[in-house]
Formats: sequence, C-alpha cells, structure tokens
Amino acid sequence: MPNILLTERCVRSCPYCFAKKHMEESENERMSWDNIIYTLDFYHANGLKDVSYLGGEPTVHPDFVEIIDYTLNRGFVVKIFTSAIMPEEKMNRLYEVIEKHKAFDRIHFVCNANDPKYNKPKEWELIEKFYKKFSNLIVQGFNIFEDDFDMTFLFDNVVKYGLRPFLRIGITHKILGAQSNMCITPDKYPAVVKRLKHFLPFAQAAQVAYNIDCGLPMCAFSDEDLGVFSRANTNFSWKCSPVLDIGPDMTIWPCFPLSDMNTKTLFDFNSISDIMAYFSNIIAEQRGNNNGIYVECDTCRQLETNICTGGCQSYVLQRAK
Ligand code: SF4
Ligand code: SF4
Repeated sequence: MPNILLTERCVRSCPYCFAKKHMEESENERMSWDNIIYTLDFYHANGLKDVSYLGGEPTVHPDFVEIIDYTLNRGFVVKIFTSAIMPEEKMNRLYEVIEKHKAFDRIHFVCNANDPKYNKPKEWELIEKFYKKFSNLIVQGFNIFEDDFDMTFLFDNVVKYGLRPFLRIGITHKILGAQSNMCITPDKYPAVVKRLKHFLPFAQAAQVAYNIDCGLPMCAFSDEDLGVFSRANTNFSWKCSPVLDIGPDMTIWPCFPLSDMNTKTLFDFNSISDIMAYFSNIIAEQRGNNNGIYVECDTCRQLETNICTGGCQSYVLQRAK
C-alpha cells in the first residue's frame, strides 16, 4: 500500500530521519486538495482500500483533520504515521471526526517513539495527551539507529496507556545518494539482534510482541536466536517489498532508502502495478548480478527459496556500484 506524504514539514528533527534528504530537496511543503483527491481516486481505481498518511509530520498539514474526514467519508481504512506532537485542539477535532464516522475500527496511528532523552519536555506533555486520548488506536513504532538503544520506556507506555500490544521495530538504512545519515549498517546487525534479545524478557513481561520491519536479514539471527524470538511471538520480515511513497508534489519513489529514484510522478502512470514494474526494472538493472547485501547471498539457500531476499536494496545497490 503506497504512503502519501501530506507535508514535508516536521515538528521534530530525529537524528535518523529517513525522510530528511527528500525533505531538504523538495520545495513543496504540503499536498494540495487537488493532489489528494487525484491520489485517492487513483487508489480507488486500483482497488486499494487502505491509505497511509505520513510526512514530515502529516498532522502539520493545515487541513489535516478535514483530510481525514474526507478519507473516512470515502470508506478508506486509514493509517497515520505521527510523532503524536500536535496541539490539543487538533487532537480533539480528530477524535470528533473519528467518532462522527464511527470509524474506531478503520483508523490507527503508528506513533514513532524516540527515547525520552531525545524529547523536549513540552513534546512529551503533548505525546502523553495523545496516548491517553487514542490509547488502543496506537501502535508504537521504534526506529533503531544506534546499537546501544534502550526500549524499556516503550513497554512502560504500552502498559500505562493501554496501547496495542506490539511494537513496530524499524531498522534505519543507508539512504542511497545521501551524504550520510545515521543508520544501522550491516556490520552492526549482530549487536542490534543482541540488544533486541536483551529486551525480550521485558517485552514478554509487558505482553508485547516485536514486529521487526524489513531489512534485518535472516542470517543476522542464529538458530538459537530464532527459537528465542519465535517463542516470544516475534514477527520477522526478511523480504524486501518496497511500498511506494507519493510526495506532496506527486513525485513517487519506491522506498525512502531509494528516494533518489524520484524522477517520475503519479501522473505518469495508470496503475500501481505499472509503477511497481517500472521501479523493479530499474532496481534489477542497477543491482546487476548482486543478489543481496553479502557475497554469500549469491549462493544462499534462503534466497533461493525466497525466505530471505538478501537485505535492504539500498546496500545491494551500493554493492553493485
Ligand atoms: S539471502 Fe543473504 S542476507 Fe538473507 S540469509 Fe542468505 S546470506 Fe543472509
Ligand atoms: S528497500 Fe526493501 S528492505 Fe530496504 S527499506 Fe525498502 S522495502 Fe525495506
């Protein structure tokens, strides 16, 4: 399901921000109503029923609440990636809109939670208000960008505010073409797995499961690790399956680590499958004979059987250069 960037402005500046390069290079700060309606028409014509809004910080769009109202009115299921940092008045209006549509089963929020040491005190006050108000409509997202991360605050939040009992764990990747961005390079994967394992007993005590996002390959886990994580109900994602991103100016790219492929717009295509075929061809062309992030991928049984697709394309394409 493609993501729609409602705005390129943000209220935070996270050290790992994967959208930073794109935000810095783009002049269009927010999506127009014409573009929103065109995009949702495009979704409808392609049989897509789910809409994901992100940014920047999507709630910064001046018409954010009206956009959610419109999207729910059209019958879509809505996911919003947010920092949860917004004025209380906006939270209240958002709640009223969800209530008006009786859409509590058609909307949820992925709140990207940073270690409290990166939050300003005023920010946490707003986040807490949001957590209290939207409670079980919230899944916490946690982006790993350093290998000595702490997760205990995440479990405390789930228990204290009644959030959904799992964590969406993102691994930050190198952005192709960016000078540098804080990310977890493949040499740090063993340390990340060790750290995730360290926090598993805390997760289990809080009855929280890990949903580990794409890019952390299967071989980052030993057989023993796989057993331990599986018993704790961890959901792995060893396949690279880019979801399209649509910028406010309708520029499209296959995934944030590959956002330098943003040379086309949504207007250039008639269907999602045409767009995916277009990017798949470019990626296949650029990666040449490199099948994965490691030389070993070329002969790996997991790749042959499509259990692991060889890590994040961002590193595969770098390997090919
Ligand atoms: S395909 Fe590559 S990354 Fe995946 S398990 Fe095999 S060697 Fe590891
Ligand atoms: S390129 Fe593939 S593995 Fe990397 S972030 Fe995108 S979908 Fe995930």
